[in-house]
Amino acid sequence: MTVLDNLQQIHAKVEQVCEKVKRNSDEITIIGVTKYVTIERTEELIATGINNLGENRTEEFLHKYDSIGERANWHFIGTLQSRKVKDVIDKVQVIHSLDRLSVAKQINNRSTETIDCFVQVNVSREDAKHGLEEDEVLEFIQELEAFDKVRVIGLMTMAPHIEDKEEIRVVFRRLAQLRDVIASETLSHAPCTQLSMGMSNDYDIAIEEGATHIRIGSELVGSTNDSR
Ligand SMILES: *Cc1c(COP(=O)(O)O)cnc(C)c1O
Repeated sequence: MTVLDNLQQIHAKVEQVCEKVKRNSDEITIIGVTKYVTIERTEELIATGINNLGENRTEEFLHKYDSIGERANWHFIGTLQSRKVKDVIDKVQVIHSLDRLSVAKQINNRSTETIDCFVQVNVSREDAKHGLEEDEVLEFIQELEAFDKVRVIGLMTMAPHIEDKEEIRVVFRRLAQLRDVIASETLSHAPCTQLSMGMSNDYDIAIEEGATHIRIGSELVGSTNDSR
């Protein structure tokens, strides 16, 4: 399958789901996750018109950025270490994984511009390492007011790796409810209107539950360096 074939299938599914739940597909940004694939395959993706790209590791991101640069909007979707913030901060448009004040502080110190961030929430509690607990999120976001380069545009989560679609749906629904709670605070540094949720296996459910940013890797570009 070419990347274009894959993208057309994804677009068709996005349209179908949007129709079902009466959403406008213009509200949904597809982020092409290129972490598994080569620069050649990434170029093939860009040629289809996708210009929002996601990487989850600093080294791999910098490698891709070297040859692709500002032809893409870069989304940092993985855990960012405080000491690496300075290496990526002026090259990325959006950070999807903010969950520590130490990282916010580095963003604030190192960035020349305001950076759009999603706060990562560990709704499923499957992986204890990444994301805040739901009950920590409001206080964390209130504390981010101290860092004027950080703008919280929404919340991000990863669903658990399970078959049960209803259990996945519950995770996405809880993130949407939490987003509503934060948005109702009308904090000027945290409009928090967006939802980054949904990957290859579950983006249909995520869209049904309100996703505005879906992060798709394997279904779009394949998951190995030999561009299956
Ligand atoms: C790898 C990754 C994705 C994409 O995963 P696929 O299942 O291949 O679509 C999305 N989000 C994050 C945070 C990732 O690390």
